[in-house]
Amino acid sequence: MRDYSITIIENQEKKQKPDPNQLEFGKHFTDHMFIMDYTEGTGWHDPRIVPYQPISLDPAAMIFHYGQTVFEGLKAYKTQDNRVLLFRPEKNMERLNMSNDRLCIPQIEEEFILDCLKQLISMDQDWIPSAEGTSLYIRPFIISTEPYLGVAASKTYRFMIILSPVGSYYKEGIHPVKIFVEREYVRAVAGGTGKAKTAGNYAGSLKAQEVSEKLGYSQVLWLDGIEKKYIEEVGSMNIFFKINGEVVTPALNGSILEGVTRNSVIQLLNHWGVPVTERRISIDEIYESYKKGLVEEIFGTGTAAVISPVGELNWEGEKMVINDGQTGALSKKLYHTITSIQNGNEPDPFEWTVEVKPNC
Ligand SMILES: *Cc1c(COP(=O)(O)O)cnc(C)c1O
Repeated sequence: MRDYSITIIENQEKKQKPDPNQLEFGKHFTDHMFIMDYTEGTGWHDPRIVPYQPISLDPAAMIFHYGQTVFEGLKAYKTQDNRVLLFRPEKNMERLNMSNDRLCIPQIEEEFILDCLKQLISMDQDWIPSAEGTSLYIRPFIISTEPYLGVAASKTYRFMIILSPVGSYYKEGIHPVKIFVEREYVRAVAGGTGKAKTAGNYAGSLKAQEVSEKLGYSQVLWLDGIEKKYIEEVGSMNIFFKINGEVVTPALNGSILEGVTRNSVIQLLNHWGVPVTERRISIDEIYESYKKGLVEEIFGTGTAAVISPVGELNWEGEKMVINDGQTGALSKKLYHTITSIQNGNEPDPFEWTVEVKPNC
């Protein structure tokens, strides 16, 4: 039976908080962090909340060599009446264990970790910005720590959670982005690690991102890794198309990351009676529909931006301008509804939010 008590070491020197109007994504970190270690035989042990600080690792630690690691990303929101809400955090814990399974990392106890997370947030709740669109970004992650250069699953791990106050993704209002349809590089293949949230997927995506940025595009549209024909994701977001009144999104096929926002959008559309289908979608089909004038909206979904409308798709030099480069009505409605549920401004019919009680 594992010892459930969390050790808490409070930071005696509180850091100065950043200007809430100048928050950049992932640049500032709060006063505390959560740590827990794993050793083969003992299991997970020593859960603790300690002052935010650098960690020391053996240079042979396996994470540095073979990238056995997983992460999550979610947010805490401050409501107008000063409550703190998490959005579907149990889905992130569940996905973390799915990623763990794929990367041969031991399972964590989802409910226990959620309790630890709430405790950490409660300690650092003064760090949660309250202005419209701002939030506290939460980054749980696990690294392999065994000092060993053999290719195998590590026998020791470290689980950490760090917190970062983030500004509004859309300071100047929602602006659709230009997307380059990637033909050379792929993000993931079925059977690979695409459906796990793991560092290697991101490392492998940087090259295409760099090339597309040089061409003046902000993200790439990823096609499947085998035929380079079927649409998978946009940047590190899931993707939706509104075509002739119907919404379609690529079906989960083993290489697509199963986004919590994606799932929430599908549930909302069903609730509103907007037809939505998960199926295979080829880039040719999008182009054909575009030529017929049927592509009404395209948008990406993910925790960071929530909804990110696409204003242009460049497919081998063919430029498809979507909705005159403007944010569509459905994108706006989804963005407004999801963010309003997240920050407690609208009723939460699906019971998606979870309150972090003070001093829990
Ligand atoms: C995290 C992630 C998403 C979005 O998932 P959310 O749970 O909605 O934040 C989509 N695609 C990739 C590749 C991701 O890593």
